[in-house]
Amino acid sequence: MKRLDAVVPIYNEDKILPELDARLRAVLAGLEFDWRVIYVDDGSVDDSGALLATLAKEHPRVSVVHLSRNFGQQLAIAAGLATADADAVVLLDGDLQDPPEVIPDLITKWEEGSDVVYAIKRQRKEGWLKRKMFSLFYVLLRKMSSVDIPADAGNFSLMDRSVVELINSMPERSRYVSGLRAYVGGRQTGVEFERAERFAGDPRQSPRRLIRMALDAFFAFSEIPLKLATFLGFVVSGIAFLVLLTVLYKRLISGEAIIGWASTMTSILFLGGIQLMSVGIIGEYIGRIYNETKARPAWIVSRYRNMGDRRATDIPSPLHETAPAID
Ligand code: UDP
Ligand code: MG
Repeated sequence: MKRLDAVVPIYNEDKILPELDARLRAVLAGLEFDWRVIYVDDGSVDDSGALLATLAKEHPRVSVVHLSRNFGQQLAIAAGLATADADAVVLLDGDLQDPPEVIPDLITKWEEGSDVVYAIKRQRKEGWLKRKMFSLFYVLLRKMSSVDIPADAGNFSLMDRSVVELINSMPERSRYVSGLRAYVGGRQTGVEFERAERFAGDPRQSPRRLIRMALDAFFAFSEIPLKLATFLGFVVSGIAFLVLLTVLYKRLISGEAIIGWASTMTSILFLGGIQLMSVGIIGEYIGRIYNETKARPAWIVSRYRNMGDRRATDIPSPLHETAPAID
């Protein structure tokens, strides 16, 4: 029988976990698969950790990876993928915005031969501003990225084992999983679905975290911002040259005197702005290079539960460490 792993990142979701677990396990139990759920407790500070421990005790098919602190959604996902070793791996959010009932549709496409089946949000349930920001993010990312990253496809997806192994072998610490998934290539298929509202509570991804994730995506998948600095440099130099010609013409040929404090100030401020922006862009890349060269583990696991023989996949990797058991 083929095996299926469902990876779910969890950060302070104790109001949702019982419902999520019941619905997810009901869907998986109806499949012709040997299945397992891998919850990643991303350093929750509510009762999620304890709830997950109980679930793992009661259900042998529930595995848990507890991270030693909050590492952020993308790394929590990466931690889950690192322990997944089934033939197909489904990735979904833990707030029931990605309905588990869609999983059979993803499986059908995989069985038809796709390596990656990503779920496309037909309609976002977020407010107007957040929706606009998301569409702007995807437009920019798709314009700038050298990889074809599909719009409106978030974490919710099914990946073939070969894809998960490739992603696991990528050594970078700044991990935008939807981008890495697209990078792998192969046969990638989209399936539309109706995105539900968050079952309870506020998004755990605060606007600040979302912006950080967007910047990670931009800078990890595009060098265009760097080239933008060069482009602006050329444009400004071109303008400066034209201005110089006019000044020379006026001085030498038409003999008009040039008075102008405002024009000088404007040029200085304009140039200063462009220079600061360019330095800032370079800084974004250098910061990321610095982060990669420090080569710290991208996440630290404090405890595994119910991994069974899959502890074997807990291979030493430069990407993660296992801390001495905390309890
Ligand atoms: N999440 C996580 N670590 C974090 C933030 C979020 O594991 O630091 C989880 C969260 O518990 C949820 C999923 O990631 O299961 C999606 O988070 P959220 O609903 O806040 O994101 P959004 O819907 O805004 O993308
Ligand atoms: Mg959500």
